[in-house]
Amino acid sequence: RRLALREQSAGRALTRDGVHIEVAANVVNAAETRDAVLHGADGVGLLRTEFLFTERTDAPGSEEQRAACQAVLDALEDRPAIIRTLDAGGDKDVPYLPLPAEENPALGLRGIRTSLAMPEVLDAQLTALLQLKPLSRLRILLPMVTDVADLLRVRERIEALASQLGLSERPQLGVMIEVPSAALLAAQLAEHADFLSIGTNDLTQYTLAMDRCHPALAARQDALHPAVLRLIALTVHGARQHGRWVGVCGAVASDPQATAALVGLGVTELSVSPALVPEIKHRVRQLDAAACQELALTLQQQRSATEVRALLAAAANVVA
Ligand code: PEP
Ligand code: MG
Repeated sequence: RRLALREQSAGRALTRDGVHIEVAANVVNAAETRDAVLHGADGVGLLRTEFLFTERTDAPGSEEQRAACQAVLDALEDRPAIIRTLDAGGDKDVPYLPLPAEENPALGLRGIRTSLAMPEVLDAQLTALLQLKPLSRLRILLPMVTDVADLLRVRERIEALASQLGLSERPQLGVMIEVPSAALLAAQLAEHADFLSIGTNDLTQYTLAMDRCHPALAARQDALHPAVLRLIALTVHGARQHGRWVGVCGAVASDPQATAALVGLGVTELSVSPALVPEIKHRVRQLDAAACQELALTLQQQRSATEVRALLAAAANVVA
């Protein structure tokens, strides 16, 4: 079975009716990137840069960050890499950043809010990213964006730094949809972003108001909750108004039971655990995107994630 999956991992994943779904990988370093390529990943869909620099007491300099990210880009040969700026705060503690203790860390300074509150941290990271080669394969992704103001402030910094560096080219810039406000305002974000990537782990946490690390709530933390599905549908609708594509990089992208739902909602990129790339590509190739689209409408009318999952199981043969 393993060998069969390896064979399935090569080449693009098209649904039976010809919709191309990019299957990329979530990684934390160059070694995982090489593994992702071996498993047939079409690129890196999410590099979580905060994990490049764990177990240290001081912030990495720009040159160290550049080298670490260049190693990821090199491991991809000609494939693209989506590199996320530091997602510090909340559930991700970055010990060398002097972040104040907060009463509600999940609702406080985290993700792009932290970077904007510490301009020298953001500038060091953007400077590192802008020096990567080739810039045409780099896509910068911003975590925990609330509304378009966050995006415009980072764009300004990118413009300033890129002209200081004498660059004529600019990398693509995307935002994560992890907060209900961002999903609701997706069209405004898509007007100024090159792509949107849905972080369903946090989008589920913030939509259901359930701590993603809370053991007693874990069973109900399902990104296939109809409320989350409706926000994904809104995101795709907003993105399409400006001709942008939408990906999913949360854990649900790695769940083969969810592929029909995500494809049906209009998502065209799935970023998954490296080892699951072959299985998700295989699943995509079984699906009929038009049938999935019909199904997604019904999924959004369900009352719980349990009902959504039951319907997906019952429809397994209808969509494939
Ligand atoms: C997410 O929130 O779904 C996501 C991909 O980001 P992280 O899990 O790193 O918060
Ligand atoms: Mg997140």
